[in-house]
Order: sequence, then C-alpha cells, then structure tokens
Amino acid sequence: MAVLLDTLSRFVREQLVPAENEVAETDEIPESVVADMRELGLFGLCIPEEYDGLGLTMEEEVLVAFEIAKASPAFRSLIGTNNGIGSQGLIVDGTEEQKRHYLPRLASGELIASFALTEPGSGSDAASLRTSARRDGDFYVINGTKRFITNAPEAGIFTVMARTNPDIPGAGGISAFIVEKGTPGVFIGKTDRKMGQKGAHTADVIFDNCRVPAANLIGSKEGVGFKTAMKVLDKGRLHIAAICVGAAERMLDDALRYAVERQQFGKPIAEFQLIQAMLADSKAEIYAARSMVLDAARRRDNKEDISTEAACCKMFASEMCGRVADRAVQIHGGAGYVSDYAIERFYRDVRLFRIYEGTTQIQQIVIARNMIRNAQV
Ligand SMILES: Cc1cc2nc3c(=O)[nH]c(=O)nc-3n(C[C@H](O)[C@H](O)[C@H](O)COP(=O)(O)OP(=O)(O)OC[C@H]3O[C@@H](n4cnc5c(N)ncnc54)[C@H](O)[C@@H]3O)c2cc1C
Repeated sequence: MAVLLDTLSRFVREQLVPAENEVAETDEIPESVVADMRELGLFGLCIPEEYDGLGLTMEEEVLVAFEIAKASPAFRSLIGTNNGIGSQGLIVDGTEEQKRHYLPRLASGELIASFALTEPGSGSDAASLRTSARRDGDFYVINGTKRFITNAPEAGIFTVMARTNPDIPGAGGISAFIVEKGTPGVFIGKTDRKMGQKGAHTADVIFDNCRVPAANLIGSKEGVGFKTAMKVLDKGRLHIAAICVGAAERMLDDALRYAVERQQFGKPIAEFQLIQAMLADSKAEIYAARSMVLDAARRRDNKEDISTEAACCKMFASEMCGRVADRAVQIHGGAGYVSDYAIERFYRDVRLFRIYEGTTQIQQIVIARNMIRNAQV
C-alpha cells in the first residue's frame, strides 16, 4: 500500500497537476494520461482481486482518494464511477456470471460504467423514479430519461434503476439493470455545460423501448434495486468525503504558498494574524474531516453499519471543503478571482460535492432519521 500511495503521489504531482490547465481548456483528459491511469490500476481500485482489481479495503480506498483529489477533480471523476457507483451494484448484488462478465473489463479501464438513478422529476426523492422496465419474455423493455449521469458519454455500461412493478410506487417497485451502450433504444443526450469540473462529463441517458436481456437484471431479482442503490451510495459518500479532504488539502497548500510569497505592507501576508486565522481554521477543519473519514472507513472494514457515519462524513467534509475554497480565494485576493491560479477553478469544481450523491440537506435527514430510529428502539 505504501508503494501505491507513493507512486500515486508522484503521478499526481508530475502528471496530473501539470495537465490541469489543458483539461480545463479542452474539456478532455489527454489519452496519454488515461493510459497511465489504466497502467496504475486506478480504474480497478475497489474491484475484488478475483475479478482483476486491486481489491482495496475502504481504509486503503480513502487513502488513495486523499491523494488523487489533490489534482483537478475531473481526473478522479473518470475513475470514480468504475470504482464506486458504476460497479458497486454489481459487486454487492450481482450474480457470479454478471461479475465475471463485466468486472475484469471495468478493473482494466477498458470499459467505463455509469450509474443512472436521477431523473428530470426525481433527484433527492430518488424512490419516486418513473423510468419503467416491463417484462416481455426473456427481455425487459425500458422507457424513461435519466439526468446528469456522470461519464455517460464515455460509458460502455450503465447501472440503471427502473420500476418493474408500477403498482408499488416507492422503493419496493424498483429493480437494477446493466444496460450496454449500443443496445437499440439507448440514446445519450448532449453533454451538459457545467459550472466547473471541465473534463468530467455528464449527460442525459434516454431509454426508448430499449430491450434488455432479462439476464441483465442485477442479482436476477426484482424489487431490490433501490436497496442496491442505497448500499452503493453509503460507500460512495465516504469516497466523496475523502475526495473533499484531498481537494481541501490542495487548496490550503496553494493558499499557504501564496501567503508566504505575497508581500503587502512590507511583509508576507502570512504574517498577518487575520490571514493566519483563515489558514489555521482550514487546517483544523481538514484534520477533523480526515479523522472522521478514516474512522468511518475502518468501521466499514469491520463490517459495522456506517449509514450515519457516511452521511456525517459527506456532510461535514463537503461543507468544510466549500469553506476552505472560499478562504483560499480570499487569501489569494484579486489573484483568487482570475484564472491564472488554480484556486479560481477549484472554487467552482468543489461546489458540486455539496450537491451530488445526496445533498447536504439529504445527509442531515439521513443522520437525524437514524438518530430518531435508534432512540425509539
Ligand atoms: C455534475 C453532476 C453529476 C451527477 N452525477 C450523477 C450520476 O452519475 N448518477 C445519478 O444518478 N445522478 C447524478 N447526479 C444527480 C445528483 O445526485 C442530484 O442532482 C442530487 O441528488 C440532487 O437532486 P436534484 O438535482 O434533483 O435536486 P432536488 O432534489 O430537486 O433538490 C433541490 C434542493 O431541495 C433540497 N431538498 C430536496 N428535498 C428536500 C427535503 N426533503 N428537505 C429539505 N431539502 C430538500 C435539496 O437539498 C436541494 O437543495 C449528478 C449531478 C450533477 C450536478
């Protein structure tokens, strides 16, 4: 593990950070960088070794996430779905045949997986989704639109949540499917124009009478797709929290370097106590978030239920990351508002972390709901 972290740290410093501007300008990650990411095994970090991945524990995964998040979040986003929301449905609930068929190609990065839950009419209230999957002999016929799907333009397969039982309106009527790109009736919308994270792409995925083999129902079981999605999101929230820690560390490093170099009133601005307060508050909050993420990751490795802890980590770390981004811009002064410095880009990039994989408000609801449920036991 120490070797992996060391290699990754060097890769981030020597390859990813220097490529950040090009990615922001072209909205593409250079193919040579993608090839190096494949070579390092980054697409298969969390895929078990028996399916050719690195099989990292949760603790090891968050240590890797701390490192990779020190470069532009777009790089992480490309490998994020294969390691997280795109593949985990298969890993936790897929049949052996499904795992053998897809996981090795996801681990190598030959195939990109997307996770398609959100719809135009259902975001936070994901259980109200309307995409339908009607059984027809050995197939399911899928109809509906999925929105904001990360890596949809690149994806070779989609984990799709759809309603197999229209008579059950909530979570119980939902099933999860693997849908391959190129299946007749699957269309990818135009790539969304976003506030930040250039180089990471999202788009609508539209299903129009798309016939999917019944063998692609995850776990060969109807009605448990929402449960699969929630299990995936518990882990995903910890991963995003770790990314927030890494991104905050990078922004604070940049702000510290600037504060030491920039002179006003005849001395480095780092010597002013009001600047020091911003540096110190950021350092302490990052340390708190890092400790929380490591603790929750270890608990998950010990098979504890970490639904509350994962939501606490996602909420605290993403809000912390937003505060650190804001202070880091402030420390840069006018230079923080123009794009010559990375902080202008990071400020926009990290705004997403408080929104996806459950907004801050949804994390608050999860935490409080679990507290109340436990109080009633
Ligand atoms: C760049 C990007 C990538 C994404 N990638 C994916 C992906 O790969 N796959 C996928 O399935 N989805 C993806 N999403 C979707 C994302 O998960 C949703 O946008 C998010 O869950 C919020 O849903 P919404 O946008 O519909 O907002 P809404 O649910 O409409 O929420 C709007 C506001 O209302 C608040 N709110 C909602 N309900 C409540 C409540 N009960 N109490 C208090 N406040 C509430 C929310 O917190 C928010 O502030 C992505 C989104 C973006 C922007």
